[in-house]
Amino acid sequence: MSILRSKFFAVPALLPVLLLSQLQQDTQGEQGGISNQQLNEQSILAVNWVQQSGEYRALTYQAFNLAQLNFDKAKSKRIAHPAIIVDIDETVLDNSPYQAGLVDSNNIFQPATWNQWIKEEKAKAIPGAVEFINYVNKKGGKVFFISNRDEKSVKTSKNNDLKIATINNLKAVGFTGVDEQTVLLKGEFTKKIDGQENTSKQWRVDAVKNGSADGKRYTVIALIGDNLNDFDETVGKSNQQRRTSVDNYRNSYGMFNITKGIVKPAYIAIPNPMYGNWETGMYNPQAFKKQSPFEMTPTQKNQQRKESLTRWLPKE
Ligand SMILES: [Mg+2]
Repeated sequence: MSILRSKFFAVPALLPVLLLSQLQQDTQGEQGGISNQQLNEQSILAVNWVQQSGEYRALTYQAFNLAQLNFDKAKSKRIAHPAIIVDIDETVLDNSPYQAGLVDSNNIFQPATWNQWIKEEKAKAIPGAVEFINYVNKKGGKVFFISNRDEKSVKTSKNNDLKIATINNLKAVGFTGVDEQTVLLKGEFTKKIDGQENTSKQWRVDAVKNGSADGKRYTVIALIGDNLNDFDETVGKSNQQRRTSVDNYRNSYGMFNITKGIVKPAYIAIPNPMYGNWETGMYNPQAFKKQSPFEMTPTQKNQQRKESLTRWLPKE
């Protein structure tokens, strides 16, 4: 029996104090463990790579140049109403300042601060995104922005404040074709499944294809995103499953395919080393009797991040 437990039984009056200290340990790091602030230190290289390296820009230009090749090919093949679907965050808008703001703080990603960042409309464009999207819109294609940003910060409100701010931000950095119908956020075109509202991106992709987005039926020739879930939400949670899925669909990466007249869209990936489902894909919360990675402490995350490494060590 742990010291903590035996204290519980001996002095029941201490219970609230002990529960509070347990809570503080979970948010600030267990004894001998690390805090969120210390865990955030691990993001410094990734955020600097996005903000400072030429290599990051080289990869985003490469991705949008490849997307343009796909669009030109679709035009030359006379594909009717070609559409491109782009994710927003870390695909066409750069939120690295939000990530950088977590460094030297004990904070983690939280909807309240994230919504505040969105409402300031300060995100810059990802290199190459404006030129590519405006090219498509000018040359007879259509771009839809499908993102899991929420439409509004207050669920019960009629004010779509986050959608308005997102549209403003996209327009301010120079994107054309940005409006209520082309920006489709979480909460739009949802489906009831087993009585539950399902907000999958798939229903919004379907809306683009079946004419319910803006009245026209489009052929989606490319999906561009920084997260495998932007291409296919059934990709799985663990990185093992996710790697296998990428291997299975390797022919879709970077080029669309036409089989018996059906277009299978190109999947075009933008690098994001700062966050994503790849991070939670590393964790096994059950090892700590937790239901989800979001319940794990910084120490537990740090431990599993280290355990994930494939290492070589020099001989002593
Ligand atoms: Mg994204």
